[in-house]
Amino acid sequence: MTVGRENLLATEWMDQPERNAILLVEDSLALSALLTARLEDETGALVTRCASLAEARATIAGKSFTLALTGLNLPDAPDGEILDLLFEADIPTVVFTATFDAAARSRCAGKKIVDYIVKDSGRTVDTVIHTVRRILANGAFKILVVDDARSARSGLTDMLRRQNFQVAEAWSGRQALDLLEKDDAIELVITDYHMPDMDGYELTKRIRATHGSERIRIIGVSSSTDRLLSASFLKAGATDFIYRPFVPEELKCRIDNNIETLIQLKHLRRLAERDYLTGLANRRHFFARMRELEKAPFNGSIALLDIDHFKQVNDTFGHDTGDGVLKAISAIMARQCDRAKHVAARLGGEEFAIYLHHLDAFQAHSFCEQLRREIEETEIPAGNRSITVTVSIGVVEMEDGEPFGNHLNAADQLLYLAKSNGRNRVFSSLTIPEAMQSQRASAAG
Ligand code: GH3
Ligand code: MG
Ligand code: MG
Repeated sequence: MTVGRENLLATEWMDQPERNAILLVEDSLALSALLTARLEDETGALVTRCASLAEARATIAGKSFTLALTGLNLPDAPDGEILDLLFEADIPTVVFTATFDAAARSRCAGKKIVDYIVKDSGRTVDTVIHTVRRILANGAFKILVVDDARSARSGLTDMLRRQNFQVAEAWSGRQALDLLEKDDAIELVITDYHMPDMDGYELTKRIRATHGSERIRIIGVSSSTDRLLSASFLKAGATDFIYRPFVPEELKCRIDNNIETLIQLKHLRRLAERDYLTGLANRRHFFARMRELEKAPFNGSIALLDIDHFKQVNDTFGHDTGDGVLKAISAIMARQCDRAKHVAARLGGEEFAIYLHHLDAFQAHSFCEQLRREIEETEIPAGNRSITVTVSIGVVEMEDGEPFGNHLNAADQLLYLAKSNGRNRVFSSLTIPEAMQSQRASAAG
């Protein structure tokens, strides 16, 4: 879903996301307490602690967990029996163990564990936190598995779901392209080479014709003995390749690397496009989006919004309260805009712009009027009391073919009129005659 992504950041600090639940099974109370504190603090998850197999069995009954973290040896289960319990309960499990030797490996075999962490240094807790963060972050990513062989497909999708990824499946290249067209949440494609309608190499080329590697990562997979196949895939735009049969850990590492790259790219994009204080689109990104829009026929309106007497807020309550006002107003704008494909931006200081997608003059005026009213009624913390502020808004319907800059100037003039006619009001083409009358009256008076 693209709807709402534009304004994601500003709402993040307001809406508490649902917390992930982690089951921690560890008999050392000191380690268990340390892990719980750091996991809750650094991943935001809610941790439930158990110190034995019996306690774990009683705890998981009727509850659901995103992830379990467990040692292999517990006082009442010295041979890794805890893994059977977690496997039967279908809880993705990360094991931490003193050594991952042949014996430990064979205890884990067939239990479909997500990962293992060797307790080998002072960095164990850091490694646990890092691993858990990564697995929780996986939940935001959707991977498309393309393979005509059902067993190969289900082996892979099963493993990816356990890693907490969202998974989509396609059994042909054509179906994969259809899915990608419909679902823009897919960011990684893992594709087989040999498929009846279109091979993985051709599929890679077709995806690259429309999507760059910063948007969609592609990992090729094949049991072919042709050593040149990996080079062909990579040249066609795949970001990685692996020959079958593969060691699951190797594929997992390659997937993790690709996801890590996506996370870093998103982070950089966010830094470049967002206003640091409010999380709304920044001026440069907003103008770039408008120039994109201008290229094709479009309809919508543009609003300019400015906080009234904002300098007084700073002067009376201090700069931090002023910043709080900017954030609170941005959050209201973001929430209103998320309901449609509107884009809210902070152009600078206490001035904001909103592109109102598909709204004509009437609809845009009423949207702004509702926004103005909500802002006026919102109590914003100022030290040990709370304050309210008002905004003035100028809004125009955009005419197709007219440069964006002209619309922005028109909105700015309306904003000026809203200010000079008393502030805390919305001015648009609908209010102009009234405004002119009142100006004429004041000129006559
Ligand atoms: P008007 O109703 O005519 O818009 O009056 P105003 O006081 O809101 O407008 P003016 O342009 O005189 O003052 C804007 C103030 O916004 C001055 C500036 O210090 C403050 N400001 C700009 N950026 C920030 C910011 O990031 N944080 C805070 N706290 N204040 C800011
Ligand atoms: Mg102002
Ligand atoms: Mg101003």
